[in-house]
Amino acid sequence: MSQERIDFYRHTLGEAELRNLAQVLDGVFLTAGPRTQEFEKRFADYLGVSQAIGMTSCTTALFLALTALGIGEGDEVIVPAMSFIATANAVIHAGGTPVFVDAELETANLDLDQVEAAITPRTKAIIPVHLYGHMVDMKRLRAIADQHGLAIVEDCAHAVESIRDGVKPGQLGDVACFSFYATKNITCGEGGAIATQREDLAEAIRVIRLHGMSKSAYDRYTATYRHYDMPVMGWKANMNDLQAALLLPQLDRIEAQLERREAICQRYERGFDALGVDYPRVLPGSRSARHLFTIWVEPELRDDVLQGMQEAAVGVAVNYRPIHLMSYYVNRYGFVAGSFPRAEEIGARTVTLPLYPGMSDQQVDQVVERFAAVHRHLVEKRQA
Ligand SMILES: *Cc1c(COP(=O)(O)O)cnc(C)c1O
Repeated sequence: MSQERIDFYRHTLGEAELRNLAQVLDGVFLTAGPRTQEFEKRFADYLGVSQAIGMTSCTTALFLALTALGIGEGDEVIVPAMSFIATANAVIHAGGTPVFVDAELETANLDLDQVEAAITPRTKAIIPVHLYGHMVDMKRLRAIADQHGLAIVEDCAHAVESIRDGVKPGQLGDVACFSFYATKNITCGEGGAIATQREDLAEAIRVIRLHGMSKSAYDRYTATYRHYDMPVMGWKANMNDLQAALLLPQLDRIEAQLERREAICQRYERGFDALGVDYPRVLPGSRSARHLFTIWVEPELRDDVLQGMQEAAVGVAVNYRPIHLMSYYVNRYGFVAGSFPRAEEIGARTVTLPLYPGMSDQQVDQVVERFAAVHRHLVEKRQA
């Protein structure tokens, strides 16, 4: 019995991106030049912030944001236990110590009720992750951060299109970090960006993303040659014009693609409601960026569901098993099972299903039907 394969993700890059890329190849400038600047301007406008800076990845963006905020050795940064490992790794890259906080059950996001208890005299910043595209309550988190003099670095890898209570990513955080990795809502294979309303941070990050140099290659190219200086230590993390050429056309269709993903998610939700299967909720007042659609199954069946779905030709993933129980974190910090019970429960139950604008309604229905068959079979096998 062979069934049509339903991939986990398919990008939407095509003619418009090819034309844009050909234009860049016809010119002389391959690194961060006019197209990168155009993308930065348009991305900042889309988010409604004053500054956007193209980067090589979200992981590096998080690291450089923390570094620009002066976070390093001996400093603690609060991060959710339920996220991708990069969120906490960036704190370690910067020399700091990640302090985990558990998830709230309704959305799987950082539980703001538990943030204050994790704050110590060493705490310098909080990294909320707008998981699956659903924003953390930034008004409430900003109030907590201000009360304790902490910075907020938003991990917006899932959240380009998110809005909550009229607030967009980057508007209330000190810095917001985005990913254009291969499976994200807009992508150039690998890439990232920083958005901020703070001119001081934007200026510092522009310098440390490029060796700590006082002038970029584009500055040197467009003006007559002047010597550059290196006033501070920097890294190498700038976006280039090939990446920007791929990203720019996606901004033209970003809202239309979100609309399609929203319709797909609502179709999934109706299907899984009918099966009595639970999933994280989108709260009133929130527009989710609908990056990932995940369902929660019985923990004792989860790995068999993953296996069964793949045998049924449906691409699946797990977002995420909690960070604190990864071997490195266990070995370095001594975390044990039970430390963050909600993140652990979600991590044991979650199954992420295909979600991308090119999916047809029939494919969505097929995913639900194949899940129902796989799940029914597993339950019957257990009862036998
Ligand atoms: C993808 C992702 C990252 C890392 O993004 P890169 O651009 O690959 O570095 C960080 N945080 C979360 C939540 C992600 O999903």
